[in-house]
Amino acid sequence: MYEAVIGLEIHAQLKTKTKMFCASKNDPDADTPNINICPICVGHPGTLPSINKKAVEYIIKIGCALNCKIAERTKFDRKNYFYPDIPKGYQISQYDLPLCYEGYLEILGKKIRITRVHLEEDTAKSIHSTEGYSYVDFNRSGAPLMELVTEPDIRNADEAKEFCENLQKILQYLGVSDANMEKGQMRCEVNISLKKKDSDKFGTKVEIKNLNSFKAVRDSIAFEIKRQTEILESGGCVVQETRGWDENKKLTFSQREKESAHDYRYFPEPDLPFIFIGKEHKVEDIIDIDKIKTSIPELPQKKIKRYQEEFQLSEKDARTIAYDKDYADFFEGVISNFQDKKEKERLIKLSANYITTDIKNVLIQTKRDISELGFTPKDFAELILILNDGKINSAVAKSSLLDAVNQNRTPVSIIEEKGLMQINDEKQIEEIAKEVISQNPNPVTDYKNGNQNSIQFLVGQIMAKTKGRANPKLAREVLERLLQS
Ligand code: ADP
Ligand code: MG
Repeated sequence: MYEAVIGLEIHAQLKTKTKMFCASKNDPDADTPNINICPICVGHPGTLPSINKKAVEYIIKIGCALNCKIAERTKFDRKNYFYPDIPKGYQISQYDLPLCYEGYLEILGKKIRITRVHLEEDTAKSIHSTEGYSYVDFNRSGAPLMELVTEPDIRNADEAKEFCENLQKILQYLGVSDANMEKGQMRCEVNISLKKKDSDKFGTKVEIKNLNSFKAVRDSIAFEIKRQTEILESGGCVVQETRGWDENKKLTFSQREKESAHDYRYFPEPDLPFIFIGKEHKVEDIIDIDKIKTSIPELPQKKIKRYQEEFQLSEKDARTIAYDKDYADFFEGVISNFQDKKEKERLIKLSANYITTDIKNVLIQTKRDISELGFTPKDFAELILILNDGKINSAVAKSSLLDAVNQNRTPVSIIEEKGLMQINDEKQIEEIAKEVISQNPNPVTDYKNGNQNSIQFLVGQIMAKTKGRANPKLAREVLERLLQS
C-alpha cells in the first residue's frame, strides 16, 4: 500500500503601492499593457534596483503569523534562466538566506512545517495571440512576490487544499495580498511522490503547476496519486518532471523535466545590500519586528475557536463568518451592540444565523459584497432586536433585508414605512377588539356562557383585521377585559 508525500510551493503577489525594486506602480493587472513600467523593471542594462521596505515588512508579517524564525541578516540572489518574460535573464530572489524560515501552520489538528518564506520579484506575462504572435506585458514584471515552501508533511489532497485555503485567509487578514487564485494573485504548486506506507523512504517526486483553484489542487493530487500508483504497481518508475493540470480533461500532463538548483547558477545580487533586521543591529533604517508583530490581527483559526467557545456558534457558522474578514468585521460590529442586553447570547446566535444564511443569500442575489450592503452593523443589530422582541416575525425580517439592500436603506426603516411592525399599542387593539365584538354576537354570547374556546375565534378575527400584525397575547388580554365588564 502506498501513501502520498506532498510539499507545497506557494506564490502570492504582495499589494504594495510600488514594485519590488523600483518606483513603478504595482498594478500587475492594469488594463493597458506596459503602462506601469520603467527602465528598472524592464531590465535595461546599467539600471540599479533598490529595495521596497514595505515588501520586506509584509514578508516578515507573514513569517510572524506562520510561527517562523526571522533572519537577522538576509540578502537577495540572482536566479539565472532565460524566458521572454524575464528581461534581465535572471530573477532577483532569495537563495540561502530567506527572510523567514522554520515555521509551521496547523491545519486539521496537524502541524505542517514551513521550510521558508522569502521575497522575490514576479515575471512579466507572455500573451500568445491566435494569429501566431506573442506579446510581452511588463506590468507584472518586478512586482513583489512571496514564495512559501513547505516540508513534505502533507499526506493527502484534503490536507493540501486546507493548507492553501487557510494560507489564503491569513494573507487576506494580514492585508498583505488579495490572494485571489483565479486572478493569479496566489499560485500553488504541488510536489508529490508516493512511498510505501510502512517505509520512511520517499519516492521520486513530480511537480504540478497551473493550479488556479483550491479544487484544482485537490483534484490534481487525487489524479496524480492514481497515476503514480498504477506506474509503481506495474513495476515502473515515476519520472521526476514538471506536469501541468488540464482542468477540462481533469488530468496532469508532462511539461518538462525539472531543472535542479545548480542549473540556475544562483549567486548574490551584487547591486543590493544585505538587510539587517532587529534592534541589535545599529543601522539607521531598522525594521521593528515588535511593531510588525503587534499589527497582526486575530487570525481566522483562532476566531473560529473563539466564536464556538464564546458564543456557542456551530463550527460551520463560525467558519463561514471568520474565514472572510469582511464578514467577521460585520458580525463583530453587530454584536458589539448587544454588550449590555439581557438576552445577549440569544441575540448573537440569531445574528449569526441571519448573517450566514439570509444576508449571504441577499448578497448572492444582488451580486454585492458585504461591504456594499448599504446599511451598517448597527442598523442590522436593530433589526435583530425587534425580531427578538417579537415586534416582527421572521418572514418580515427576511424580506426587509432584500428591500434594504436594493434601496440602500436600513431594514427597520422599510419595516416602519410598510407598517409591518407588530401592533403593541393597547388602545389601537382595543378599537379593533370592540369592532370584532359588535360584529360577532354569537361567539361573544358563547364565551359569556362559559365556552372558553370561542375567545380564540375572536382573537383570530383581530389577527385577520390587522393582517397578522396584532400582538396575539395582547389581543387576548384586551378581549378578556372587554368581555368581563
Ligand atoms: P527541488 O530542489 O526539486 O525544488 P526542494 O527540496 O526544494 O526540491 O523541495 C521542493 C518542494 O518539494 C518542497 O515543498 C518539498 O517539501 C517537496 N518535496 C521534497 N521532496 C519530496 C518528495 N519526495 N515528495 C514530495 N514532495 C517533496
Ligand atoms: Mg526548490
